[in-house]
Amino acid sequence: MHLLNADLHSHSTTSDGTLTPEAVAERAAAGGVQLWALTDHDEVAGQQRARDAALDLGLAWVGGVEVSVSFAGETIHVVGLGIDPDDETLRAGLAATRAGRRERARQMAEGLARVGIEGAFEGALAQARNPDLISRTHFARYIVERGVCAHTHEVFRRYLTEGKPGYVPHQWAKLGDAVRWIRGAGGVAVIAHPGRYKLTANEEYALFTEFIAHGGVGVEVITGSHSAAETLRFAETAVEFDLLASRGSDFHSPEESRTALGSLPDLPGRLKPVWAVLGERIEGPVPA
Ligand code: AMP
Ligand code: MN
Ligand code: MN
Ligand code: MN
Repeated sequence: MHLLNADLHSHSTTSDGTLTPEAVAERAAAGGVQLWALTDHDEVAGQQRARDAALDLGLAWVGGVEVSVSFAGETIHVVGLGIDPDDETLRAGLAATRAGRRERARQMAEGLARVGIEGAFEGALAQARNPDLISRTHFARYIVERGVCAHTHEVFRRYLTEGKPGYVPHQWAKLGDAVRWIRGAGGVAVIAHPGRYKLTANEEYALFTEFIAHGGVGVEVITGSHSAAETLRFAETAVEFDLLASRGSDFHSPEESRTALGSLPDLPGRLKPVWAVLGERIEGPVPA
């Protein structure tokens, strides 16, 4: 159970991935993943397709979502695992979280137009397969397509991060609400890719303390964006706060993602895997 090749963080065209839920399932199975979750941003519309595709492939599946949260002036992502995608309160909460994205995208496009990148709203919308979920990733792909930058990482650095022309501050869900929606839908809440946040030590302590007070139980120790040092650091965090450890590539696209589905490092041995508590929420054949 501990060494299960679990990948519990990935994206499809339902949010800012480039592959359909079915194609992500195929890649997961082909990459040797033994337990898979699709965790689109603020959206569960791809869950049924993900489940059906996984079960057809003989791949164990569990419901998932990645909720955008604002905390201490930063955007924090909370992954929900084992959720029921049909839960009405979760769906309503996610709809409210998505609601501001279109207006934000218009403002981002205005900022980009001021530095000579015209038509970015229409360009990003054309990249998005789900018109309700225009993300910075879609802007980044449009700007690469225009030849302004060579890679999406460069677009983020030059145009889409705090202080840059296409950055628009945004109010996402509250931490407590995100955890409550996930728990209410029968799921467990996990702090996603903790190494990516620009928090002070005090803020990080507050994040984990408040997350746990709201009923959050896990942290991604193994994620596609962690360095070896960050993996060690957040393994310590998991022990210190008695959190379950999760493992997920955060796969978005074969061209853009550093980590392929199924190729993540093992979970450090002393940690408790989050999948050990998912139990009957997992559908399909989990290897013993
Ligand atoms: P949004 O929810 O619209 O703010 O977009 C956030 C998404 O942008 C993340 O989920 C990543 O997929 C992507 N992203 C954020 N920072 C970077 C970066 N530096 N390079 C590439 N993609 C990034
Ligand atoms: Mn993303
Ligand atoms: Mn994320
Ligand atoms: Mn993600």
